[in-house]
Amino acid sequence: MIGKLVVISGPSGTGKTSICNELLRRLPNGYWSVSATTRERRGDEVDGREYRYVTPEAFAEMVRRDELLEHAEYCGRQYGTPRKPVEDAIAAGKVVVMEIDVQGGAQIARRMPESIRIFVLPPTRETLEARLKGRRTESDAIQKRRLEQADGEIGFARQSGYYQFFITNDILEDSVDRVMEIIQQETQAV
Ligand code: 5GP
Repeated sequence: MIGKLVVISGPSGTGKTSICNELLRRLPNGYWSVSATTRERRGDEVDGREYRYVTPEAFAEMVRRDELLEHAEYCGRQYGTPRKPVEDAIAAGKVVVMEIDVQGGAQIARRMPESIRIFVLPPTRETLEARLKGRRTESDAIQKRRLEQADGEIGFARQSGYYQFFITNDILEDSVDRVMEIIQQETQAV
């Protein structure tokens, strides 16, 4: 396989993180892009594994130095993709997997049109609500905000044309099979 960038987006609570984890387990040459964020660490997350947790000042400095491939504000927090690790991994022939929001997906679509952009949908709005509520690490107010955000994101993803693929995450294994298929198809096509 040749180096490739795979963007996975979708509202929070769709299970896209599980898809990414399983993808990285299956891909022999997969590489996870660790984003920088100003949000607080959640549950058993580990600094440098799920995210690099940085101060707003440090984040602003990364932006100023043009060290981020893309960045966006999501629910009042900053998120961004450090550029160098991604570029190095692609150059080394890896399949880089990144989980970013739709604003970031739009920036990647414009800057790296050869990337694969996949949007993950919840089977129903009720499932999304239930999954967000089941995640007990966040307050009700944050959950409500994330649900409102989800509606906007789905609309944007559909209308913008930045995503070539939409998958409904009902059964995790099926979703991962589908993403693997897309990656294989796209990497062979070049
Ligand atoms: P969470 O706080 O639930 O981990 O992530 C919130 C949102 O930020 C999710 O939609 C996630 O995909 C997105 N996100 C995570 N890292 C990045 C990033 O580096 N850039 C952008 N644009 N969004 C990100």
